[in-house]
Amino acid sequence: MPLLPGDATLGVLGGGQLGRMFVHAAQALGYRCVVLDPDASSPAGAVAQEHLKADYLDPAALDDLARRCDAITTEFENVPARALEHLARVRVVAPGASAVAVCQDRAREKAHFDASGVPCAPYAVLRHGEPGVADLAAVPDALLPGILKTARLGYDGKGQRRVADRAQLAAAFDELGRVDCVLEQMLPLALELSVLVVRGADGGVVTFPVQQNLHRDGILAVTEVPAPDVDEALQAQARRSAAAIATGMGYVGVLCVEFFVLKDGRLVVNEMAPRPHNSGHYTMNACDVSQFEMQVRAMAGLPLREPRLHSPVVMLNLLGDLWFDADGRERTPDWAGVLALPGAELHLYGKAQARHGRKMGHLNVIGATADEARANARSACALLGLPDTW
Ligand code: ATP
Ligand code: MG
Repeated sequence: MPLLPGDATLGVLGGGQLGRMFVHAAQALGYRCVVLDPDASSPAGAVAQEHLKADYLDPAALDDLARRCDAITTEFENVPARALEHLARVRVVAPGASAVAVCQDRAREKAHFDASGVPCAPYAVLRHGEPGVADLAAVPDALLPGILKTARLGYDGKGQRRVADRAQLAAAFDELGRVDCVLEQMLPLALELSVLVVRGADGGVVTFPVQQNLHRDGILAVTEVPAPDVDEALQAQARRSAAAIATGMGYVGVLCVEFFVLKDGRLVVNEMAPRPHNSGHYTMNACDVSQFEMQVRAMAGLPLREPRLHSPVVMLNLLGDLWFDADGRERTPDWAGVLALPGAELHLYGKAQARHGRKMGHLNVIGATADEARANARSACALLGLPDTW
C-alpha cells in the first residue's frame, strides 16, 4: 500500500540543503514533513512542519521521529547506520541501513562494484594502524602514482592525498592518521559523469539522463545535460551500470553513481551517494520529475515514472565565495540581473552565513537548445563573477 499524499507524514534524518529540497518536493505533493537535525538553523528544519532538534543517535528523538512519521529517509551520507537500524524496527526506512553502510565505506563500495561487474579504478585496501603498514608494503607498483583516500567520511575531495611513489604513500598514510584507506591508481580522465538511479521497493528501476560534471578545487562547479561529450552508447552503459549497482544492493530510493570516462574512452565507476546529489539538481527545472520528488515517490511506494528531460540545462553551483568582492567585503550577488536571463532558475538554501567554499545555492539555466542554455549560463557567470569556461 503506498503512503498517499494528503495523508502521510514523511521524515528526514539530516537538515541540510538536500533535506530542504526533499521537504519542498514532499510538501508540494501534499505530505507533511518532519526533520531531525541538531542544528537550530538547519535549512530543512526551517521549512518542515516540524523540526526535532536533537542528535542523530538520541534514542528518544529517534522514537519521536518514528512516532510522527510513516516513512523516513536520509539526506546525508554519514548518517549513523545505528540510527537507521533503530528506525527500521518500526517504520519504512529508505534507503536501508545496509545499503547506506556500503556507500559509507570506500572498501565495501568497491567490493560491491566488483560484485556488480562494473569496472572501477584498480585499488588496494589499507587497514588502519599497524596492519596498514604491512598492507603498504604489499601494494603493487602498478597502483602508483595513485590517490590515497580515507575509507570513510571523505567529501568534496577532503581526506585524499595524491601520491607519486612509495615514500609519499607512507607519508600520506601517516598524515591521514593511519585510518582505514583505499589506494586507487591515478587514472587519465577525459571527463566525469554521474547518473541518478531510482529503485522502488517492488524492484522497479528508472534512471535519469546522464550528467557531465566539472569540478573546481575538488567541488562540483558545473553540470551539463545532455552530456555534451559522451556518445549515446556510453551513456546507455552508464545508466545500465548504475541500475545494476542499485539492484545488487536491494537499494530503495535515489542513488547517485559517479563515473570517470578515461582518455581511451573506457567507463569506470568512481563512487556513489545514497541520496539525491548536487549533480542531480538540474532535474528540478529540466525534467518532468525532480530527483527529490523521486525520493518521495520511492519511499512512499508511489509509481516511479521514467523521467524525461524536457530542456537542455546547465547547472552552476553557487558557493559562498560569490558573496565577497575582490577585497573580501561582503556583497549580494546580482540576482535581479541573473533572473532577467531567459531560462535562469535560482535556488538558494536559506543559509544565513556565506563562507568560502560553502554551498549556498545553485542556478539552473535551461534553454530550447544546449547552445542557448550555455550562452545564458555564460551571461550568468559574467554577472556573478564565476569563470565562464567549462
Ligand atoms: P565528492 O564527495 O565531492 O564527490 P570525494 O571527496 O568523495 O568527492 P572522489 O569523488 O573520490 O572524492 O574524488 C574527487 C575527485 O578527484 C574526482 O571527482 C576526480 O576528479 C578525482 N579523482 C578521484 N579518484 C581518481 C582517480 N582514481 N584517478 C584520477 N582522478 C581521480
Ligand atoms: Mg566524488
